[in-house]
Amino acid sequence: MTTVDAASSPSPFVSGVSSITEADAELSEALMAAELAPLLPALAYLTGDMSLLRETLRPDPLLLNLPFSGYTDEQQAEIRSLALDAVVRYRDGGCVPSPAPCDEALLRMLEHTVGGEDMADYLPLLEEELAYKGEDRRAPSWNADELAPDVDISVVIVGAGMSGILAAHRLQQAGVPFTILDKNDDVGGTWFEAAYPGCRVDNPNHNYSYSSAQRHDWPFHYSPQGVLRDYFRQCADHFDVRRFVQFGCTVQQSVWSEADQTWTVSYTDADGTDQSVTANIVISAVGQLNRPRFPTEIEGFGSFAGETMHSAQWRPELSLAGKRVVCIGTGASALQFLPHVAEGASTLVITQRTAPWLAPTPDYHETVPEGLRWLYGHVPSYSEFNRFAIFWRMGDGALEAVRVDPAWESDGSSVSMISEFSRQMLVEYFNAEFDGRADLLQKVVPNYPVGAKRMVRDNGVWARTLKRPNVQLVTDRIARITTTGIEMADGTVHEADVILYGTGYEASKFLTPMTVKGRDGVDLHEHWNGDARAYLGVAIPGFPNFFCLYGPNTNIVINGSIIYFSECGVRYILNLVELLLAQRASSVEVRADVHDAFNERVDAENAAMAWGWSSVSSWYKNDLGRVSQNWPFTLLEYWQRTKEADPSDFQLSFPER
Ligand SMILES: Cc1cc2nc3c(=O)[nH]c(=O)nc-3n(C[C@H](O)[C@H](O)[C@H](O)COP(=O)(O)OP(=O)(O)OC[C@H]3O[C@@H](n4cnc5c(N)ncnc54)[C@H](O)[C@@H]3O)c2cc1C
Repeated sequence: MTTVDAASSPSPFVSGVSSITEADAELSEALMAAELAPLLPALAYLTGDMSLLRETLRPDPLLLNLPFSGYTDEQQAEIRSLALDAVVRYRDGGCVPSPAPCDEALLRMLEHTVGGEDMADYLPLLEEELAYKGEDRRAPSWNADELAPDVDISVVIVGAGMSGILAAHRLQQAGVPFTILDKNDDVGGTWFEAAYPGCRVDNPNHNYSYSSAQRHDWPFHYSPQGVLRDYFRQCADHFDVRRFVQFGCTVQQSVWSEADQTWTVSYTDADGTDQSVTANIVISAVGQLNRPRFPTEIEGFGSFAGETMHSAQWRPELSLAGKRVVCIGTGASALQFLPHVAEGASTLVITQRTAPWLAPTPDYHETVPEGLRWLYGHVPSYSEFNRFAIFWRMGDGALEAVRVDPAWESDGSSVSMISEFSRQMLVEYFNAEFDGRADLLQKVVPNYPVGAKRMVRDNGVWARTLKRPNVQLVTDRIARITTTGIEMADGTVHEADVILYGTGYEASKFLTPMTVKGRDGVDLHEHWNGDARAYLGVAIPGFPNFFCLYGPNTNIVINGSIIYFSECGVRYILNLVELLLAQRASSVEVRADVHDAFNERVDAENAAMAWGWSSVSSWYKNDLGRVSQNWPFTLLEYWQRTKEADPSDFQLSFPER
């Protein structure tokens, strides 16, 4: 690999990797802040010195998610010492990177980074995902003007969040005209909207970022909402797609015309005027997590006379200081905003239906230390190897721990030996955090397997919040909401000035409230009947030229990145557009038998994972109890299956001549 310089990097955020001039003592200090697992592999890559990859310094894959990747103090010291020697040699040699390694050597580096074996299948994915040669490996290799200059084609993208921006970028690279409609006033979707206090991503940003818009200088390991909002704004500007977005436009419906082989998309514009636009293709990039879910099933919902607020519709002007606050729900968002609410409220009653597993994350709120940022900016490929380490430990490397072992005897709290091991490690964390508070401990330790619901990152703040004298955690069932507060099943009444809803989103009601009418006027929501399905999350039989991003079964439980799924999905869609153009076809539609067989496999595999096996309630299951949210296979498989569309999976229609 050569040094990524600004000229060869597609990223607006990478301005080149600078030469090293610092003295040994400064290098040594920077290395104290290093992420250790990717350090020696990156230096082996940089210097060609494979002797850095010592067997005794391979991380234990089971301990990768622990601080310092589970290395002992001695191992940490040895890694830093070897790294210092290597960096000094690189500096003294004039900062000239070694020639790119052969595949065999690269594989050893990758396997060493995560303590893995037999990972050859990952090599092409990782070369592309890491983009460490600086190029944009996912850019379309074709252009509409060259491929089919005689064909007019147009696309409407609904949504200008992370997925919509990406789709627009790739279409523009391919020379395919498009329009984006978004109901909001700016790009960013989730990261524009979710403005509650404490909102931040729970996937480290080196992974939660576009592969072609990497940053070496993320200010936080886990960015707060504002940093991500700005990131997506900057990406939209850099990709030059903002000028194609019509803001303030809410799409009401999309209707397919078989005769014209086009979609008519109807929407209300920013002035409230009804409009429509016709296009050959519609890409739904409406997300899953932007329609708030309210606990309407609780008796008396809506009767409370005081103020109410959902985390998805936070009103900063509603002061909670000195107020009696009740919060319904202890999901991921609630655990982010409640510590802030607790600081000001006079009393805070938190009602919990199911306790979340906490993932110990000491650096969750921390800024990236100066030394580590320096390393990312000066040691070529280190940032990329770190991205791979995160990708693995929060993705395929963690999958075995949530897979059900049919032979495992369980009381419902674990699904295999590794799952039990994870449970015990986390219980130890709870024991330490809630030491001396047996009353809380018996309420906060989950009784379902790790991975059956999304884990919540914690750096001690949850225990500190629950231990506050003004905070009460209640686990009894809420019998009803009254005009003045809530009444529990045991008759206890909690009076309130404000009720907060930490009850999540209508995630499984994909694409609602938009109406989509496909071939023969079939309504998508009637067709789904509450049980959304698609082929690879993208294509639905009966809905030609209609594609979804972040669609059914493209979510993850163990904290991978949705950006990865959208990058794969966008490439797949672009591939289908290429197919249309190359074949001079007017529409492309997935075959029903292919779609059905795929979904059968998905269902069988989801049932064999902690989240499908466990009866614990979660937003991954729809009202019918089917897991409509999650991708149960490896991330590698999604990449392999979406890398190139197989034309035999689809039916093409051709214009009448
Ligand atoms: C609090 C929170 C934390 C999260 N943390 C993570 C994380 O750590 N890791 C992770 O991978 N994911 C996380 N997610 C999921 C996150 O939603 C995705 O990562 C990502 O933002 C999805 O992007 P998207 O563009 O597909 O959808 P969104 O970001 O939801 O964008 C959808 C866009 O479509 C627009 N839209 C919707 N309906 C219409 C309509 N009818 N007409 C016009 N416009 C419409 C919306 O206005 C919005 O701009 C989190 C989500 C939330 C809410």
